[in-house]
Amino acid sequence: MMTDQEKFMKEAIRQAKKAQALEEVPIGCVIVCGGKIIARGYNRRNTDKNTLSHAELNAIRKASRKLGDWRLEGCTMYVTLEPCQMCAGALVQSRIDEVVIGSMNPKAGCAGSVLNLLEMEGFNHQVKVTRGVLEEECSQMLSAFFKALREKKKLKKQLGKE
Ligand SMILES: [Zn+2]
Repeated sequence: MMTDQEKFMKEAIRQAKKAQALEEVPIGCVIVCGGKIIARGYNRRNTDKNTLSHAELNAIRKASRKLGDWRLEGCTMYVTLEPCQMCAGALVQSRIDEVVIGSMNPKAGCAGSVLNLLEMEGFNHQVKVTRGVLEEECSQMLSAFFKALREKKKLKKQLGKE
């Protein structure tokens, strides 16, 4: 049996696969309110040629449109990878209740790795953080993507020499 947290993380993984289909780094998320998914997002940075097109920001924009409010009080985000500084900042600004994370990002994450913007005392809002939901599946998806990317680059290089 899957827990609710795992069920929603599965949907975030489904979103990440959409990014992967566009040859984007597979990162996906969903925003849940009242037990229902109200918004989905995936990384489209290269496709949109826009540094703001992270999965989390795409989903926040949709959730606000749906709720007719910039405040996401009472909502929870499920995201496959620990948010960066930009997205963690936006999550604090959105007053979201909770962020549930799949795998951590030691070199760029701002929910406890490089920084912990979500639970910082000094701000006027703190976001509850839950880590490690379907962690194995989330991190495997990323490592498989980067492995395939390296192999593709290697192959290109080899073909270029001939
Ligand atoms: Zn981000």
